[in-house]
Amino acid sequence: MEKRSLNLLIKQEALRLQFDGCGISKAERLEQEEPHLFYWLNHHYYAEMDYMAKNLEKRVDPTKLMKGAKSVICLLSNYKPAQWQSSHIPQIASFAYGRDYHIVLKEQLYKLKAFIDSQVTSSMRLFVDTAPILERAWAAKAGLGWIGKSNLLISPKFGPYTFISVILTNLELETDNPMEPQCGSCLNCVKACPTGALNAPFSLDARRCISYQTIEKKGPCTQNPSPYIFGCEICLRACPYGANTPYTTLFPPLPGLLQVTANEWKEMLPDIFSQRFSKSPLHRAGLQKIKNTIAYLRLV
Ligand code: SF4
Ligand code: SF4
Repeated sequence: MEKRSLNLLIKQEALRLQFDGCGISKAERLEQEEPHLFYWLNHHYYAEMDYMAKNLEKRVDPTKLMKGAKSVICLLSNYKPAQWQSSHIPQIASFAYGRDYHIVLKEQLYKLKAFIDSQVTSSMRLFVDTAPILERAWAAKAGLGWIGKSNLLISPKFGPYTFISVILTNLELETDNPMEPQCGSCLNCVKACPTGALNAPFSLDARRCISYQTIEKKGPCTQNPSPYIFGCEICLRACPYGANTPYTTLFPPLPGLLQVTANEWKEMLPDIFSQRFSKSPLHRAGLQKIKNTIAYLRLV
C-alpha cells in the first residue's frame, strides 16, 4: 500500500476510534529539542523525578527505544470537561476527573494497532505516558499543535487540554508538517503561575510546580499557595487557546468526584477511596498524600 493512502487510512480510523487528532512524523533524533532537555536537566528542574534524567538517548532518539522504528504516530485526546468543580471545594486538575487516561487510551491504541495489523504487516510499540518519549515534541513535529510558553502542547482546536499517546512503527509513512507556534506576545501562563515554577517562557522548574508537589513529590507539599490538592491547571486555564474549545465525551467525571469536600477527603477511609477511585489518576498520589495536602493547606 502507498505511504499516503496508509497515512490517510490510519488517521481516518483514529478519528473513528474517538481520538481527536492524529499526526505522523519521521522517527529520527530530536536534534532541536536536545539542548532544551539538557538545559532543563542541568538546572535540576526535574526535582526528584530521577527517571527523567535516565534513558536520555532513548528520550531523544526513538530508534534507540525501538530498533527499526521509521515513523511516530501521535494521537491527541481532548480532556476538557463539560463541567468544572465548584471553586469552594478542594480542586483537582481536570485531567483527573474521569477514568485513568492510561487505561482509556491504551484500549483505543490497541484497537488502532489491530486495524493497522489488518492492513499491513509491521512492528509497533504503543505508549501512553509510560516510556522515555518526548510526547509533546512529537505531537508538535506531527503538526498537532505547538509547544506553548507553558511547555504544554497547544492545539489550535483543543488548547492545552490534551493527552498524547504514541505508536512507534517500522512502517515508513507519509509525514505531516509541523505547525508555526502561535503564542505571539501572550504571556498569560507565565504571569498566572503562582509559584514561579514557570520561571520564564518555555522554562518549567518542576520543584516549584504545584502539579509535582501534589502528585509526584514524596512527602508533603512544601510550596502550594493554591486550592489544588491534586495537580494544578492555573496555567492551562489562563491560555486563550483553551477558552472556547469543545468538551470531551470520552472522560466524563467519576460519580461524585466533583463534589468531594475537604471534610469528606479528611474522613475518607482507604477502602472507600479504592472503591471510588481505583480507576482514577488520583491513585497515583494516593489517599494519604491527598489528606496531607488538605492538612498543609489547612482546608479543614
Ligand atoms: S501547573 Fe500550576 S504551578 Fe505548575 S507551572 Fe502551571 S500554574 Fe505553575
Ligand atoms: S497562555 Fe499564552 S503564552 Fe501561554 S501557552 Fe497559551 S498562548 Fe502561549
